Amino acid sequence: MKCEHIGVIGAMDKEIAHLLEKLSSKRTGEHYGYTFTTGRLGTKTVTAVRCGIGKVNAARCTQLLIDRFPVDLIISTGIAGGAGPEVEIADAVVATGLVQHDFDVTAGGYPKGYMCTGISKDKPTVYTPDPALVRALEKAAGDIIGPDKVKPGIVATGDVFVADASLKAEIHSLFHALAVEMESAAIAQTAQGAGVPFTVLRVISDKADGQATDSFARFENETALHSARIIVSFIESLS
Ligand code: SAH
Repeated sequence: MKCEHIGVIGAMDKEIAHLLEKLSSKRTGEHYGYTFTTGRLGTKTVTAVRCGIGKVNAARCTQLLIDRFPVDLIISTGIAGGAGPEVEIADAVVATGLVQHDFDVTAGGYPKGYMCTGISKDKPTVYTPDPALVRALEKAAGDIIGPDKVKPGIVATGDVFVADASLKAEIHSLFHALAVEMESAAIAQTAQGAGVPFTVLRVISDKADGQATDSFARFENETALHSARIIVSFIESLS
């Protein structure tokens, strides 16, 4: 797989700040209100952007990134709520598949998360990153935070901050999700639609339950920094 120009998308500034510090020969461009920063890291060119919160922001920003820059890999990075019982705060979830947990045409007899694609109508729609990229990202994450804190699995995306134990349990049981967040499946859908490989890393800031808001506030800076550090090391490992 050719990999010379990598796009990195985070929803919030803190999720890309460390990466921006590491880029050399930086230049920026504004497109429809998004600031794209391009620079060099190791032997790679990187364009990083903050997309803002939620699926529409994520999809708009991903399409702009693809249209304006010759990216051959897109990385979605940042923080997430833990959805599986085995996932702890500060663990890293590397996505093996992405679902949109709030996509709901169940009234038509379809399962939750089925996205009217016309294929596999009896299952939620899953966007799947390249397995070799998943393994390489797992390795980079393991080298930084320890392999036992890296959990490969499903990441579930929706336009909701999940802060409720029963909603989290439902998302876990329907999709076997290990993490919930608000952007990555939209990034995956857009990247896949354009034929651009993608991969997703999320570090857990909260457990998506009744304490999620407090936990998020307490751990967001530290876990966002972890996610960016892992991505820097992953990109350097590709060099
Ligand atoms: N405090 C922010 C809002 C953050 S929304 C503000 O005021 O603007 C939460 C962000 O972190 C999203 O980008 C989402 O992808 C991720 N996230 C972390 N924990 C989450 C959870 N429990 N549910 C959904 N998204 C979560």
